Amino acid sequence: MPTPLMPIPGHIDPVPLPREVTPREDGRVDLIGLSRAAITEVFAAAGLDPRAAKLRAKQVFHWIYHRGVIEFDAMTDIAKTMRPWLTERFVIGRPAIVEAQASTDGTRKWLLRTADNHDFEMVFIPDADRGTLCVSSQVGCTLNCRFCHTGTMRLVRNLTPGEIVGQVMLARDALGEWPKAGGTMAGLDDDVEDETDDAAQAYSADGRLLTNIVMMGMGEPLYNFDNVRDALKVVMDGDGLALSKRRITLSTSGVVPLMARAGDEIGVNLAVSLHAVSKDVRDEIVPINRKFGIEELLEACAAYPGASNARRITFEYVMLKDKNDSDADARELVRLLKHYKLPAKVNLIPFNPWPGAPYECSTPERIRRFSDIVFEAGISAPVRTPRGRDIDAACGQLKTAAERKSRAELDRLAEEKQAALG
Ligand code: SAH
Ligand code: SF4
Repeated sequence: MPTPLMPIPGHIDPVPLPREVTPREDGRVDLIGLSRAAITEVFAAAGLDPRAAKLRAKQVFHWIYHRGVIEFDAMTDIAKTMRPWLTERFVIGRPAIVEAQASTDGTRKWLLRTADNHDFEMVFIPDADRGTLCVSSQVGCTLNCRFCHTGTMRLVRNLTPGEIVGQVMLARDALGEWPKAGGTMAGLDDDVEDETDDAAQAYSADGRLLTNIVMMGMGEPLYNFDNVRDALKVVMDGDGLALSKRRITLSTSGVVPLMARAGDEIGVNLAVSLHAVSKDVRDEIVPINRKFGIEELLEACAAYPGASNARRITFEYVMLKDKNDSDADARELVRLLKHYKLPAKVNLIPFNPWPGAPYECSTPERIRRFSDIVFEAGISAPVRTPRGRDIDAACGQLKTAAERKSRAELDRLAEEKQAALG
């Protein structure tokens, strides 16, 4: 089913991309990704009077996002007679899982597929004190940063709010982390029994695996602003997935005009993919720099709503051998962060290689030295340990197996052709 096109920034400037939710062939509406208000609307459009629509939307919102149920039949405070009416008209979907992989270091990666057959990925990174889900905002990315595998994907499509929030829901499914009703699940009564309090209690229990979310998977989240915002609102909703905005980080390559809105309308932690301190180098490795330069970017960081010493902005810096990793680069980084008085921390990311990548990772000694210079100036600059490299789950390695395969297939065909000619 064709979907309407929307303008989306290409290499730097807009190209048209499908955006809207693809209608299901059975005509039912998928509720995942919809806000409470939107669920109210679709219920009213299906014939409920406004008061009933609002009440049902509130109940259903809780069941699908807070409790993770995927069947209307499990919604015990909704009358039994009402449930078939819901089932006939609506579904509670999930992105399809094509493949699940686990790294030797515990990192897990899922290859997912949209209803219209686009593949994208999400990664779960467990640590001693937290578990971070790395969520994708687009299939591919239009921005072509030269060190990033995702940027080489030909196919790009914005993910819908349902496909974004659906990743978090799938992770909760896989980790078995939906709260159980506390105590009195009285079976499938027609009674309207509210067990919200019990569930909320069960929900706040410590020891959960999935504690943090980073919008650092495939895609540039600020080039899919509305959908990312709508999805994260559901994730942050106390009666939804109930994750605190302090545990969510959005990473941008530097879409300056949307940064203030991200702070105002989403309000999560900000990470910025800086990666270079001079115009020449940043123009080369993060091409969006040709449109929004370093000064503009750092000014937007200084103005980011909610940034403070308690809530620092993370500057990501990928370590590329002989490209951006000199002592002078480290000193210039310190100078810039101080000049703009930024409440900053720096994440040094060893470059994760992929087939055909035009760069190499800096040596461990170089990375250590770079980190020391920044630390000595009073700015935290830890070196990130790459995670999940063996399953191509590390930063910048995401690119769907389907595309990897087709590339391999193309190479094989090219070789066969050569052989035939020779
Ligand atoms: N598009 C957003 C978020 C996704 S990328 C952004 O660019 O910020 C998440 C982080 O991984 C970014 O900082 C990105 O620059 C970094 N990254 C990309 N490719 C990488 C690679 N091959 N090795 C290490 N880090 C990489
Ligand atoms: Fe896109 Fe981020 Fe990769 Fe750049 S680093 S190509 S913005 S996903």
